[in-house]
Amino acid sequence: MAVLPIVEVPDPRLRAVSTPVEAVDDDVRRLVADMTDTMYAAHGIGLAAIQVGVEKRVVVIDLQAEEDAEGKPVRVPQAYINPEIVSVSDELSVYNEGCLSIPEQYAEVERPARCRVRWLDTGGARHEEELDGLLATCMQHEIDHCDGILFIDHVSRLKREMLLRKLAKQRKAG
Ligand code: ZN
Repeated sequence: MAVLPIVEVPDPRLRAVSTPVEAVDDDVRRLVADMTDTMYAAHGIGLAAIQVGVEKRVVVIDLQAEEDAEGKPVRVPQAYINPEIVSVSDELSVYNEGCLSIPEQYAEVERPARCRVRWLDTGGARHEEELDGLLATCMQHEIDHCDGILFIDHVSRLKREMLLRKLAKQRKAG
């Protein structure tokens, strides 16, 4: 297992459309383990494979919503291989989203409040589930990555340019 470098904007790889995983084998399971380590090391709640430079439709998510007795987040990592949105709700919800590929920039993004998603687990078994709340938002954000879409594509051009300018300034400041 390893912590991998995270691809950041404006790296063109973030615009690639990732290809489906053909067989859930040990290579895919190793990728999932590395992605999970990388997500935790970066204090993220979700990561898509393209964010570590791998053009495969693989996503890991752990909202770490619960805390143990010592106040540490409880880790329950989940891997979603070839995740696919089957349907979405008409009802929308707004979350203040961030992204490990656009460090420390946040914006409110409106997305369907619920989505029905199909995926394979690391054993190759099929799942289909209706997701809501932060998990629904996070899943849509990560599936967007598999299609080369970033959360800043969902906000106005003005807001997007402002976020990218802030990021450039922050990088200059080191
Ligand atoms: Zn992201």
